[in-house]
Amino acid sequence: MNEFQTPKDLQAAEAELSADSGLVLVSDKGVFGLDGEHWQALTQAQWLGLELGQCEPPHLLGHYAGRSYFCQYIEPEHKLDGHWFGLRELLQNNPSWEFELVSRASQVCHWDRNHRFCGHCGSPTEYHSRVRARACPSCGLHSYPRISPCVIVLVRNGEHCLLARHNRSGRPFFTCLAGFVEAGESAEQCARREVREEVGVEIVGLQYWGSQAWPFPGQLMLAFMADYAGGEICPEPEEIAEAHWYHYRDLPLVPPSETISGQLIEAFIKSCE
Ligand SMILES: [Zn+2]
Repeated sequence: MNEFQTPKDLQAAEAELSADSGLVLVSDKGVFGLDGEHWQALTQAQWLGLELGQCEPPHLLGHYAGRSYFCQYIEPEHKLDGHWFGLRELLQNNPSWEFELVSRASQVCHWDRNHRFCGHCGSPTEYHSRVRARACPSCGLHSYPRISPCVIVLVRNGEHCLLARHNRSGRPFFTCLAGFVEAGESAEQCARREVREEVGVEIVGLQYWGSQAWPFPGQLMLAFMADYAGGEICPEPEEIAEAHWYHYRDLPLVPPSETISGQLIEAFIKSCE
């Protein structure tokens, strides 16, 4: 099985850009593709053909199936003859390795644009020669791509699971409960706190299930299964529109299987059958 390979040392990165490389062009509108039907990374020749003018050099993302991939941010004002694809669109319509590629590209470009100045002393930062970091020449602070851990929990009670519809997501799905890990908190503490805060329920038997990078803009979703331990469902009105217990054979509309919440729910269904 092919797996995305992250470069160990970025020093030789520019030398690796070749006719065979793939390039992911990122802006606030998403990632750019020449073919409006199906997103693909640009070849070096296609990328040069766009004549982007003065830009930062592209970042090496890594290698997949023997091919090197780079990313570059461009300002959205650039008029290009092609199509901008949203990341959520690619999640459902492209192979998982391509989504991983654009997810990495989006997060690297996001970090690069947001750490041009030191957060401590305000000086312009410079690229570190070997690792993915921007370093401050005045005070030495290093800024790495910022990844925010989130916990997502499927709470089960026999053949039922607890699913909620969120107020602000704008999506019709019923999904697992989730939230950001707070400073100093373990993932398990976060899971218990989020479930308690969002629906007033206590859980036991937390089991780590898997993880997914979530580039909106830079979360790492840590998924857990847990068992119901007590309490009545009482949705927190700011965040949760409604939450209920659902039998595994009678589930509402749930997130697609490309998302880790969709996969958690599928695993729960399989465990009941
Ligand atoms: Zn500084």
